[in-house]
Order: sequence, then structure tokens, then C-alpha cells
Amino acid sequence: YAKDKGRNNYQFYTVSLSAKTPELWNLEKSLRHALERQEFLLYYQPRVNIITGDITGMEALLRWHHPEMGIVAPNIFIPLAEGSGLIIPIGEWVLREACTQNKAWQQAGFPPMTIAVNLSPKQFRQPKLVETVSAILEATGLESQYLELEITETTAIENLDFTTTVLRKLEQMGLLLSIDDFGTGYSSLSRLQVLPFHNLKIDRSFIQELAIDEKVGHIIKAIVDLGRSLGLRLIAEGVERSEELNFLKSINCDDVQGYLFYKPLSAQQATELMGSKLKKNTDFNL
Ligand code: C2E
Ligand code: MG
Ligand code: MG
Ligand code: MG
Repeated sequence: YAKDKGRNNYQFYTVSLSAKTPELWNLEKSLRHALERQEFLLYYQPRVNIITGDITGMEALLRWHHPEMGIVAPNIFIPLAEGSGLIIPIGEWVLREACTQNKAWQQAGFPPMTIAVNLSPKQFRQPKLVETVSAILEATGLESQYLELEITETTAIENLDFTTTVLRKLEQMGLLLSIDDFGTGYSSLSRLQVLPFHNLKIDRSFIQELAIDEKVGHIIKAIVDLGRSLGLRLIAEGVERSEELNFLKSINCDDVQGYLFYKPLSAQQATELMGSKLKKNTDFNL
């Protein structure tokens, strides 16, 4: 059935993940040709400074434009790609596309910002990750400080020695590193603090529960305080309501990402948005 009607102006196609239904087999089959058929595209969700509202970066979010089904949500096809190994070439495409786009924005004269790319567990564990990232930066001409990599808390914690080695290399290259979906993975910040992360993204589920359960506010505040004391920049995901924003302001969260500000945008929409911001600033300076 089609859930999430209207999200990103498309109808998302979702299927039950409980078993590999014929539907899912077919989907996996067409996924194998999706790259060569150029059916992938990236959407970009702005991240904003909680005080100024300035755009501090964009998160690249993958979309699959299936010829018959329309836009398929990443929550459906990323697990399929992960299971079949296709995530490696697909993930490489995402990295290249995101870096190319960010470089193009810089060359168009927009203020430089970071672009954040999500890495799946298998992608993170591929032996050639560091090499691949480095080759893509070189090929696209994007400086490493403008690329941010997001891995989930669960991915980070799974093999701490391995994670430490890889993240240190990426950090030495000058990239920004983020813990994604924090709070969903049963780990503790004290275990994660050995890792060279710059940003911590508080999972959307906490923000959603704020209105329902006031104790969640205490948990979010504890995450922000502890994250801050570990030198991390705090980012809240999935902010949809002004009450949530006000609470996050009151506990000194740094950045927010969510529908209250922006939904994920097509490359063209994102470009137009930045163009309008640039124009406003220029008008102001005159
Ligand atoms: P994520 O990295 O945690 O990305 C944030 C997700 O929350 C995005 O969903 C975004 O559209 C959604 N979101 C942002 N603000 C709001 C809000 O205010 N309300 C609600 N309800 N949702 C909001 P999306 O784009 O469907 O992506 C889902 C997940 O798929 C991502 O979660 C990420 O784990 C994965 N993903 C997306 N693109 C890629 C990719 O290129 N590579 C890999 N490996 N995973 C990806
Ligand atoms: Mg993410
Ligand atoms: Mg997240
Ligand atoms: Mg999430």
C-alpha cells in the first residue's frame, strides 16, 4: 500500500518487509538495473542554525524513481540494496553526485556549506571506503571540509576498533563525521566518545515523543548536555512543530532539521532556495 501520501510531493510506494514477497523480489530485480538506467536522484534537506535560521548544510537523501511505481522510499530499497551488495555501487554514486552538486553550488557563488551523506553499515565496512571517498573528492574538486559522513549509532558501535581506525583516517583527511539517529541504538555516549565525531544527530523519534511524554524532554536535555561536554555539535532531526523548536532552543541545541523549516528538496528547488537567500543578503548589504 502507499503510505506517507504527499511526502516530497510524491506518493511513496511501501511494501511489507516481514517476508520476501514476490513484490519484493521484483523490486530487487529492478534495483539491479536502476543505476545504469539512471533512476536514482538525490534530494537535499537543509539543516539550519537554531538561532539565526541560516542554512548550515544540506543532507543528501537518496530517491529511486521506479519507472512504474514512481518514487520508492529509501526505507524500502536501502535494505534490499544492503542485502544484495548493490549498496556499494549505489553508495558510490550518491557520494559522487553529492560532492559534484556541492562543488557546483560553490562555483555558482553560493556560500560554502557542508553536504552530508549517509553511509549504510555495509558501505562503512567496505575495505575501500577511505580510498573511494578520497578519489571522489579528488575527482570532483570538493574540499574535504565540505563533506560530512553520517553513520548510525548502531553502525558505529558494532566493531569499535574497526570504527575507530576508519573514522580516524577520515577525520585526518579533514571530513566532518556525524552520529546519526542517536538514541535508537542502546549504546551510551561514554562508549562513543572515543570516536572522532563532530556532530550528534538526535533521532526524530525523541522529538516526536516530546508532545506525548514530558519525560522525553529530560532525556533530550541530557543528551544535549552530555554531547556538548564531549565537544559535539547537537543537531535535532524531524522538527515539525514550533513547540519542539522552542524547547530545543531552551536547552541550547545547535542546529535543527525538519519539516518545520524545509522538507527534502530537489536539486533545483535547493538551488532556487539558496538563490533567494543570497539575494536577500545582498539586498540587505546594499
Ligand atoms: P536519516 O538519515 O535519519 O534521514 C532523515 C529522514 O527523516 C529522511 O527520510 C527525511 O526526509 C526525514 N525527515 C526529515 N525531517 C522530517 C520531519 O520533520 N518529519 C518527518 N516525518 N520526517 C523527516 P528519508 O529521506 O525517507 O530517508 C530515510 C532514511 O534512509 C535515512 O534516514 C537514511 O537512513 C536512509 N538513507 C537516505 N538516503 C540514503 C543514502 O544515500 N544512503 C544510505 N545508505 N542511506 C540513505
Ligand atoms: Mg542521516
Ligand atoms: Mg537520522
Ligand atoms: Mg532517521
